[in-house]
Amino acid sequence: MNAPNSSGWRPEMTSGEAGLAPTSSGDRALALEEALIFELAAPGTTGVDFDHEDEGPMPELAGILRPSPPALPGLSEPEAVRHYTRLSRQNYAIDLGPFPLGSCTMKHNPRLNEKVARMPGFADIHPLQPVETVPGALAVINQLAHWLIALTGMHGVAMTPKAGAHGELCGILCIKAALEARGDPRGVILVPESAHGTNPATAGFAGFAVENIPATADGRVDLAALTARLGPDIAGVMITNPNTCGLFERDMKAICDAVHGAGGYVYCDGANFNAIVGKVRPGDLGIDAMHINLHKTFSTPHGGGGPGSGPVVLSEALSPFGPIPFTARYEDGSIRLIEEEDAGAEHPQTIGRMAAFHGQMGMFTRALTYILSHGADGLRQVAEDAVLNANYVLRSLDDVLEAPFGGAGPCMHEALFSDAGMANGFSTLDIAKGLIDEGFHPMTVYFPLVVHGAMLVEPTETESKAGLDRFIASLRHVVERARAGDATLKSAPHFAPRRRLDETLAARRPRLVWRGDAEAV
Ligand SMILES: *Cc1c(COP(=O)(O)O)cnc(C)c1O
Repeated sequence: MNAPNSSGWRPEMTSGEAGLAPTSSGDRALALEEALIFELAAPGTTGVDFDHEDEGPMPELAGILRPSPPALPGLSEPEAVRHYTRLSRQNYAIDLGPFPLGSCTMKHNPRLNEKVARMPGFADIHPLQPVETVPGALAVINQLAHWLIALTGMHGVAMTPKAGAHGELCGILCIKAALEARGDPRGVILVPESAHGTNPATAGFAGFAVENIPATADGRVDLAALTARLGPDIAGVMITNPNTCGLFERDMKAICDAVHGAGGYVYCDGANFNAIVGKVRPGDLGIDAMHINLHKTFSTPHGGGGPGSGPVVLSEALSPFGPIPFTARYEDGSIRLIEEEDAGAEHPQTIGRMAAFHGQMGMFTRALTYILSHGADGLRQVAEDAVLNANYVLRSLDDVLEAPFGGAGPCMHEALFSDAGMANGFSTLDIAKGLIDEGFHPMTVYFPLVVHGAMLVEPTETESKAGLDRFIASLRHVVERARAGDATLKSAPHFAPRRRLDETLAARRPRLVWRGDAEAV
């Protein structure tokens, strides 16, 4: 990498292009190069009009002041704004193109959601406002809770968990509480090999031992192996359905019956609910607890790590243990919210709170807007189109890419390929990097772990056929370059703002602070 020049830019983007002189700025028209913020900083520069230094700090602050200034980059406000805006233009986003990340359900976020979430009555309320002043917000939460109970056929829902993994913890803690309530010391949770890493992590965090359940040759839970392992030490199972190989667990009802028969509970990882929403009600399958990633199934933006929202639906058996606030179906058929102050009388076995206040209000408004604008029929269509799109990708590429479970029939919402038989020593990583040069965000790679060199493509229902055809053509082109032994693919990407990184070094020795010319620490 070139050293920054005097103005801070790294003119590497223009180097190496035959016949063209590099630009002096390092920029190429709207392809903007950008240095690290520490390289742009000038000592003493600030965007804030502080009191003059020689007036000294306020006497009451003496004793808590730092002995030396923090190593923050000094930039004026316009410099800071431009830095982040320039960087944002090097970023890929769902509003620029498809995000085919398997397991993540990166669908288009309708602008209507944003409009509703930004309405002052929702956006400007404070969690400590008197309840009488926020009936509308509570009605939104309640209406969404009704929809989630109806769509899943479950008994109650906890709206507070802040993400899928947090919802898993909530559900598993409810299972633990149910076992404790009956004085049953079961301590093992069974998890399939193909599970998302959060599943065993959650069970372990909640104090359970985790054991793997093997898969069958067609990528599904081995029912015979599972049944054979059931016994008085098994607290429950955590099963993702549709699973992370993109397949529907056809034996789910038999699994639930077997686990219940042996005294355990069934947790379903519902992150893939997008594929079955409006088609299958998890409650009808016998599931006891399931989180719903509002930020996947019901749109809402979730690039860059959040915010998310992971409400948990519970069966009648587990509902008494649901966290507060909790929304449940009552004997008279009504569905009502139980608040903390009523828990002692109405919900005495609750595990307590999973989060302060009511949860992620902005996600609730977006998810409910999405649900109401689609309607029940539209949600069913979402699932059908997601499955259709994934099968279109699967069948359009299974002549050039190995599809490990392609012979087992149609997939659900995501198409799974592997690097088996990849020619000339090329790997999944090379294919993913080649896709970056094609202008696409790569698919999920090397997950699920049960498939060697996995490539998991989830197109979602919001991509058109023309859009899918462009993606398929690009992926096919990259695979054909590998087949033809095109060595340049080994060092792709070539057209991205940065070349291929040493990912191990980047993870192990991140450069977090820049101190002038000194070695980074
Ligand atoms: C996304 C996902 C999770 C975790 O959800 P977060 O909201 O990221 O915590 C769990 N399981 C599966 C299968 C997922 O795809």
